[in-house]
Amino acid sequence: MRYYDRLIFELSKEGRVGYTLGKSSFGESGVASFVPSGLLRAEAPALPQVSEVDVVRHYTNLSQMNFGVDTGFYPLGSCTMKYNPKINEEIAGMPGFQGLHPLQSPSTVQGALQVYSEMEKALCSITGMAGFTFNPCAGAHGELTGLMIMRRYHMLRGDLQRTKVIVPDSAHGTNPASAAVCGLQVVVVKSKPDGLVDVNDLKPLLGDDIAGIMMTNPNTLGLFEKDIEEIASLVHGCGGLLYYDGANMNPLIGVVRPGDMGFDILHLNLHKSFSTPHGGGGPGSGPVGVCGKLLPYLPAPRVKYVDGAYSLDFGDERCAGRVSAFMGNFGVILRAYAYILMLGRQNVRLVGKYSTLAANYIKESLKDCYKLPIPSVCKHEFVFDGLLDDGSRKDGQGNVVREGATTLDVAKRLLDFGYHAPTIYFPLLFHQAIMIEPTESESLETLDGFIAVMKKIAAEAAEDPSILKSAPHNAPIARPDETTAARQPVLKYSDTIQS
Ligand SMILES: *Cc1c(COP(=O)(O)O)cnc(C)c1O
Repeated sequence: MRYYDRLIFELSKEGRVGYTLGKSSFGESGVASFVPSGLLRAEAPALPQVSEVDVVRHYTNLSQMNFGVDTGFYPLGSCTMKYNPKINEEIAGMPGFQGLHPLQSPSTVQGALQVYSEMEKALCSITGMAGFTFNPCAGAHGELTGLMIMRRYHMLRGDLQRTKVIVPDSAHGTNPASAAVCGLQVVVVKSKPDGLVDVNDLKPLLGDDIAGIMMTNPNTLGLFEKDIEEIASLVHGCGGLLYYDGANMNPLIGVVRPGDMGFDILHLNLHKSFSTPHGGGGPGSGPVGVCGKLLPYLPAPRVKYVDGAYSLDFGDERCAGRVSAFMGNFGVILRAYAYILMLGRQNVRLVGKYSTLAANYIKESLKDCYKLPIPSVCKHEFVFDGLLDDGSRKDGQGNVVREGATTLDVAKRLLDFGYHAPTIYFPLLFHQAIMIEPTESESLETLDGFIAVMKKIAAEAAEDPSILKSAPHNAPIARPDETTAARQPVLKYSDTIQS
């Protein structure tokens, strides 16, 4: 039996001791002699009786059931699971930062406000925007904030009929969702077979009811929307604004700026492109940047620097309002700031280039084993559409005599080799999508190791798909019902015992 198969209570052995308390200085009955008897328990608590090594092994083994970027390669497309440098944690853990209270008066938190101010300058120089708010706590939260700014801009100009937002069919699901939450109507623009937005499909959609367009560039297929300048002039020409979903900013860092492409509003995912930890719904940060004419619409408060001191600016009546308590997730912003400073102006320019190189290296190395629906040069990520030979076989009449391996089977088999699975079945444009994003933080050896395993899995599928269909063979759990596992996880002690 493995350690993680049992609860710490099941490891308990009567009389086994892990730690012995020193002699009590309060006499025979210890502290009990001072506590009123009504407050004392009659029996000792049912604590597990285990040795120190039992405890250490139990919890160390439990911790290793979790997969993270600190344990292995994590090529989850769309998520930019780059390494989180430990210096980020060290900086965010400094007592001067950790001990702050959000209600302290600005005069006592000048250092923290300076961090916001300098971070704003850094992000402006990376994106080409004029100013940022750090209030939004995630990418999707940033989208909503950006759309609130877009709506308010049109509203205060009396352009009340602008209620529609154009979203490409390849968009991340949060884009149409944010537009709907903001009370805007979603209009879909189609992609061409090459994966890029179809400008001819866009043109007839444009009119005086369009508030703007939401795009990510590179798009969710990892492809650079090379018609972006034409798209920007068309949308601006009809009076709309351009929103940039910056979750895919990683390959552009230091190479191209969304502001120069014509975008008016954007969010960044500090927890993706700027190396702060994410996953599992932990704290994130989705700062929103705007071009000069939209600065007054940014949510308040923002940090300003006047006469040698930092203070808070609550804006005027044009401000889109508040979107979170205080100033967003300061700890996350600090980590991202540490990351940017650690790289510096020169090295930050390499992030985009190396992540693009890594993705193209994997794509080209595996395109003989996996279907590559769009063969062009990608940016930081790309999409396969399942195995080239999934191992399925038919008889003379065309009846299936052997089921082939699916994308899900490939993903499950990867776990046996110690890799996190790529994103699968997204984007929805392909039926067997496998979306791979290596990031710049992986070495050539790691990429080669992953490529070798992906080739091995493709060979197994062609030979005997059942190896993949029964995978993973050596993970703590194999194939839970994914919907139930996400929506109704069974985490209670008694339930664990029963199931
Ligand atoms: C991750 C992602 C988002 C949403 O960001 P969250 O921080 O998860 O809310 C939006 N768009 C794209 C393209 C993404 O990859």
